[in-house]
Amino acid sequence: MSDTITHNLKTIHNRIQAACKRAGRNPHEVRLLLATKTVDSERIKFALELGETLVGENKVQELKQKCEAIAVCNPEVHFIGHLQTNKIKEVIKWASCIESIDRLNLAEKLHDRLLSENKTIDAYIQVNTSYEESKFGISPENALQLIKDVSQLETINIKGLMTIGLFSSEPEKVRKCFRLLKSIQKNAIALNLPGVSLKELSMGMSGDLEIAIEEGATIVRVGTAIFGERIYPDSYYWDETKKVK
Ligand SMILES: *Cc1c(COP(=O)(O)O)cnc(C)c1O
Repeated sequence: MSDTITHNLKTIHNRIQAACKRAGRNPHEVRLLLATKTVDSERIKFALELGETLVGENKVQELKQKCEAIAVCNPEVHFIGHLQTNKIKEVIKWASCIESIDRLNLAEKLHDRLLSENKTIDAYIQVNTSYEESKFGISPENALQLIKDVSQLETINIKGLMTIGLFSSEPEKVRKCFRLLKSIQKNAIALNLPGVSLKELSMGMSGDLEIAIEEGATIVRVGTAIFGERIYPDSYYWDETKKVK
């Protein structure tokens, strides 16, 4: 088990480096986020002890269970899944950044909670760049307005954008998603919103991280290529209609 993770992490870092080289980018500009849904704490800890620093969880229940166990490694923890408003209280205990802000109602409830706890949080706006109904995220057309609205909430520090690219064997279709996120970033930066930085682009996963890096990713979120195939289908995490309560 540990040999595999060690080997896989080396492979991923090599892939990141090679993609950066091709794209003329500095590899220090691209961080690896361990996408750890379904992965147990021991295996996550193993990766952290090898020098990884950033973890992302999709479900609040898993977030809570594992954060306690991996806290000794002091990782930076992001929430990358669909967030229901009734889980806000729990998520802000564990995550320092929510990458999946995709609606104003969620941001407003988050803001209320943060205000009452006298806290702030980093956030990315999740954009549905593939226009697939099964995926969460604000539509590209409405992204700028959401960024403007969320920027008014002073407890939420917008630091970037997140997307899940189209699952397709045609790289150019996947690339289009990442380019769209980059163009939204440019347009949003041009608005010069106070307190909004938008430096981060969280995009690219096991199968498409090279394309994402070529298009400007600053965080790639990788699960399968490090920890192996998951037993649950991704629809369990991504598709509201198939959600198990
Ligand atoms: C599962 C997941 C990933 C990682 O996907 P892999 O294909 O396993 O690398 C990245 N981002 C999100 C939001 C995820 O849910």
